[in-house]
Amino acid sequence: MINEYDIRVLPKVASAENFLKEFVAREKGLNLKDITAVRVLRRSIDARQRTVYVNLKVRVFVREQPLAPVLLQNNYHDVSDKPQVVVVGAGPAGLFAALRLIELDKRPIVLERGKNVNDRKRDIAQISRQHMVDPESNYSFGEGGAGAYSDGKLYTRSKKKGDVNRILSIFCAHGANPNILVDVHPHIGTDKLPDVIKNMRQRIIACGGEVHFQTKVTDLLVDNDEVKGVETHDGKTFLGPVILATGHSARDVYEMLYRKQITIEVRVLPSECVWSIRKCLSIKCNTIAPKEGASICLLPNIALLRKQRAGESIRFVCVPVVLWCLLQVDPNKWW
Ligand SMILES: Cc1cc2nc3c(=O)[nH]c(=O)nc-3n(C[C@H](O)[C@H](O)[C@H](O)COP(=O)(O)OP(=O)(O)OC[C@H]3O[C@@H](n4cnc5c(N)ncnc54)[C@H](O)[C@@H]3O)c2cc1C
Repeated sequence: MINEYDIRVLPKVASAENFLKEFVAREKGLNLKDITAVRVLRRSIDARQRTVYVNLKVRVFVREQPLAPVLLQNNYHDVSDKPQVVVVGAGPAGLFAALRLIELDKRPIVLERGKNVNDRKRDIAQISRQHMVDPESNYSFGEGGAGAYSDGKLYTRSKKKGDVNRILSIFCAHGANPNILVDVHPHIGTDKLPDVIKNMRQRIIACGGEVHFQTKVTDLLVDNDEVKGVETHDGKTFLGPVILATGHSARDVYEMLYRKQITIEVRVLPSECVWSIRKCLSIKCNTIAPKEGASICLLPNIALLRKQRAGESIRFVCVPVVLWCLLQVDPNKWW
């Protein structure tokens, strides 16, 4: 027999399966010896009162053996002889795009302006120690993207969550603690996130893809209204369809797109936000999804919350991004 229960227990009880078995046997009138396993399906902590409780959804196996938890299987395979796709940016969007390309039988070439996640750590330390910002390796730029040195929280208040479990499973397949699959407010952990990012990079390379650091994309190669590839700061070119996953700190990329009169299509955004962006960049951004067959796909992470009124500052989703951006660009060029 397998039963599922919502229970509220003290942290000590939640900390070990044996305590959980005893608790469930007592509360649900079961024979302790008959309980073969208790699996936690969902976990949240209620610390609003003096006594902290853990709310759990558990699956209880009575005289039955539980199956080993199955992680979502990903189809990562050798793509070294497959057509290549250029991914600009090794933040979350770029890394996940590259892994998805492998599943779709394409060879990702990831170009990242910043350093790898370990070397980047030193540049970030420099910021607080010596008050020096490397414009290409900082809190915003470098492998892992903008949040790589945050606490790695993985929950969102957005109602449009998509297939979150798939994302969490991919993190687990690259070394994240499987607890993130059950925690209501999952965290990977600041100390663990860099290793997970490194494992993702190694997976891309092991499958035949490429990851180039300190390689800033400065131009798109466009021929007859079709994107053929990119050019980097050192004059090299990388050919293939392009996925731009450059995040919201890459002002130079948006300026370049504007200069080249390339349409940017933004996915679901509040109308006032769309207004602001359109005003700033005069880009068309009403469409809900990228055009079918489009050779540029922008994975935006746009942080504007509302339009600016006279004398007001604009609020952003993530203040730290803004602070570091301000350090890196001439404020007069902002709007
Ligand atoms: C301090 C901080 C803490 C955060 N904490 C969290 C958190 O705990 N949980 C959470 O979910 N979110 C957090 N966020 C938000 C999260 O980091 C962003 O939502 C996420 O990083 C966006 O991913 P992205 O891949 O779209 O863009 P980004 O992470 O910005 O990545 C873009 C990448 O593209 C690269 N790039 C840009 N231009 C070029 C170019 N021209 N050529 C080559 N490469 C280029 C950049 O170097 C960067 O690595 C945090 C953000 C910050 C700043």
